[in-house]
Amino acid sequence: MDEGLLQQGTELSQIPTYVTAVPNGTEKGLYMAVDLGGTNFRVCSIQLHGNTTFSLTQSKVAIPKELMVAKTSKELFSFLAKQIETFLKTHHEEHYTGHIRRRETGGAVKEEEIFNLGFTFSFPVNQIGINKGLLMRWTKGFDIADAVGKDVCALLQTEIDALGLPVRVAALVNDTVGTLMARSYTSPGKTGTLLGAIFGTGTNGAYVEKLDKVTKLTKSKDSGDYDKSTGEMIVNTEWGSFDNSLRTLPNTPYDIELDEKSVNPGIQMFEKRVSGMFLGEILRLAIIGLLKDPTFPLFRDENSAQNDIHSTTQIYDNSPIYKQWGIDTSFLSICAGDTSPGHRMVRQTLDKDYGITAVSAEDAEAVRAIAAAIGRRAARLAAVAIAGIVINTGRLDAAKGTATTEQKAGIDPPRGDADLAEEDVIDVGVDGSLVEFYPNFEDHIREALREIEGIGAKGEKRIRIGIAKDGSGVGAALIALVAGRVA
Ligand code: ADP
Repeated sequence: MDEGLLQQGTELSQIPTYVTAVPNGTEKGLYMAVDLGGTNFRVCSIQLHGNTTFSLTQSKVAIPKELMVAKTSKELFSFLAKQIETFLKTHHEEHYTGHIRRRETGGAVKEEEIFNLGFTFSFPVNQIGINKGLLMRWTKGFDIADAVGKDVCALLQTEIDALGLPVRVAALVNDTVGTLMARSYTSPGKTGTLLGAIFGTGTNGAYVEKLDKVTKLTKSKDSGDYDKSTGEMIVNTEWGSFDNSLRTLPNTPYDIELDEKSVNPGIQMFEKRVSGMFLGEILRLAIIGLLKDPTFPLFRDENSAQNDIHSTTQIYDNSPIYKQWGIDTSFLSICAGDTSPGHRMVRQTLDKDYGITAVSAEDAEAVRAIAAAIGRRAARLAAVAIAGIVINTGRLDAAKGTATTEQKAGIDPPRGDADLAEEDVIDVGVDGSLVEFYPNFEDHIREALREIEGIGAKGEKRIRIGIAKDGSGVGAALIALVAGRVA
């Protein structure tokens, strides 16, 4: 982590985000957010009520395939601007027509009429200011040559201005930073969230760092403008790439095979053991490995006592287990959640979704055990990332509150922050289907946190983990708000 704060090109990228404050729930106002992910473009407006709650209005359109590979970036960005216009007309008509009328009659645009907008742009960008970022390259099937190297906020602003919309692209938003901001606004207590983490298709984390530690930014001559008054800056770790060069994490043959057959061998090595995109594939490779292993007769039940008369297990030739990415990570959640006798759900899913019929209870248990090991390892590695940030930011040393009765008496409070002095809570916001839906993902994280030197049972109790809902909407709005303050 420290190395990445000093220089470029390190194992953890530690990207400065130019966001220098986290919200505390009292922020108010109406903001807009747009999210260009991969398949869809989302437009929303967010009313922050100032009491940790918000209302969100949103619309979503699929991005036409031809625009993903358009000749010019103008075609894509003018489409995006038109979606913003339609959204304003539909959901903020008064605001919209008032502005248009004034514009037609030559009246000046009122500052308070302008929507500050947070732009979540999930492609690699070299961010050089809170609302400035140069596109490094397209991913996810997009390919528009003239956009590469350009400031994507300016590209969007130009098209918004061409339509005369009262919208200012105030912030370029990374989804992980959005998660941190959203959680900090909505989380109980006012200590501010330390870390936002995503465990979805991919995994990444962003955290609050002391500004004077971000020396690659503070010492750089061309670092752009940012608010230095808080003494802090959110740093986007890009922890998915941890272990790319270190190669310190334990490997299984399945990790090696998954990596070799991936589109980016040797890259995103941490992510490949932790995130939703990969866990199902690790399970699939492990199952295939066992099918080839003569010492382990998986799915070779001739006549299991647990099954009915059609008891010979069959794997259909077109079963997805023979295809790369054939098993979805949601199957691991099914495995972890199925405590029924004989693992009925696991067997049914193998039958229905994976073309493996009449699986015996023993085989279902074997699949379940492998899936559980993969899920548990992912959560324990997630704990390593969380612990690294908690320890390295020194938050555990900064206890201000008093111990609770339970702690004094040496009795364990149930989990997390129960009855903890609010100032002592270290708040972590998380998002993504894996952490949301995998049963007991948080419990596995906690178990590992307790085992990590430097956290321990005491430290683990101070870490509060909570889901940050609608991170890309409300988080982007909050970044637009913070950006607006210094604009
Ligand atoms: P994204 O990260 O792309 O915004 P999500 O947070 O929904 O979207 O994550 C999608 C990933 O989560 C996919 O890799 C999918 O396999 C996985 N996933 C979806 N449902 C579940 C589930 N019930 N349990 C575990 N993983 C899931």
